[in-house]
Amino acid sequence: MRILITGAAGFLGSHLSDRLLKDGHEIVGMDNFITGSPDNIAHLANNERFEFYKRDVSNYIFVPGIVDAILHFASPASPNPQSKSGYFNLPIQTMKAGALGTHNCLGVARREKSRFLLASTSEIYGDPEIHPQAETYAGNVDPVGERAVYDEAKRFAESMTMAYHRFHGVNTSIVRIFNTYGPRMDLDDGRALPNLLKQALLGQPLTVYGEGSQTRSFCFVDDLVDGIVKLLYSEEHMPVNIGNPVEMSVLEFAEAINRITGNKAGINFMENARSARDPQRRRPDISRAKSLLNWEPKVDLEEGIRRTIPFFKEKLGLA
Ligand code: UDP
Repeated sequence: MRILITGAAGFLGSHLSDRLLKDGHEIVGMDNFITGSPDNIAHLANNERFEFYKRDVSNYIFVPGIVDAILHFASPASPNPQSKSGYFNLPIQTMKAGALGTHNCLGVARREKSRFLLASTSEIYGDPEIHPQAETYAGNVDPVGERAVYDEAKRFAESMTMAYHRFHGVNTSIVRIFNTYGPRMDLDDGRALPNLLKQALLGQPLTVYGEGSQTRSFCFVDDLVDGIVKLLYSEEHMPVNIGNPVEMSVLEFAEAINRITGNKAGINFMENARSARDPQRRRPDISRAKSLLNWEPKVDLEEGIRRTIPFFKEKLGLA
């Protein structure tokens, strides 16, 4: 297949490019580099099956030649208010990438009769009142809340995707991605794993917000990519959660990072600047992914962190 990936220079887009090239496909990568990095795709520069266009997907996009599949992964994704690349500081771009970008990609999919896969998110469940979150849960999102620019853009993107499927018959799919980590994450985007692993490798105390009792379920990127590719190759149209169902508190997560890295500097409990908007619990129900795609994660936290450390050490100049 010839596959368009928007956000190809991002964390997930670049791993998807690698995996789909390995599967024998041609990739057309697109990114405007507002949060992605040319470093993430530098190794593909001489690959004759990888083409790249520097574009903003929220403007009209034109891709010469046939397009068999489109993966729409372009969006800021970090919820950290302090981060320059987080969606708090890119609110309009985030809404445009989710809304106009999705519409543009669906337009190409309709014209080209492509398979279309939308990168959606566990954030569409908001601060969930149902636990764990199955795809049937409609979510708890405040349209004027501080995370709304991301959450509501992705919710709109899902609605738009289903409209193109139901009204125009486009072959669409939607993946709801839960917390993911691995090499090529932006070390400065302020999310839990980049912050904590960076601090651990520098021998600093780990910044845990609040008491660290809020929970997350962290998935290693190779597992996530495997689930997404299985969904791409399937015929499924309704949303599918992809994530790791092993749930832990942020404090347990930080302690695990200190143990795995041998960091002795402990934990620095900090006031949670995100408290009002920090979802308290999050864990995917992956029954649908298991039964439809025969997928479940294989990499446990310890192995995943070990596989992430070399990239962090290189970026920190510790290699
Ligand atoms: N967090 C933390 N310390 C940090 C960064 C994040 O305690 O240095 C917490 C944050 O409050 C949240 C969880 O870790 O409860 C996961 O945050 P992340 O930014 O990775 O993404 P989210 O799951 O909130 O979208």
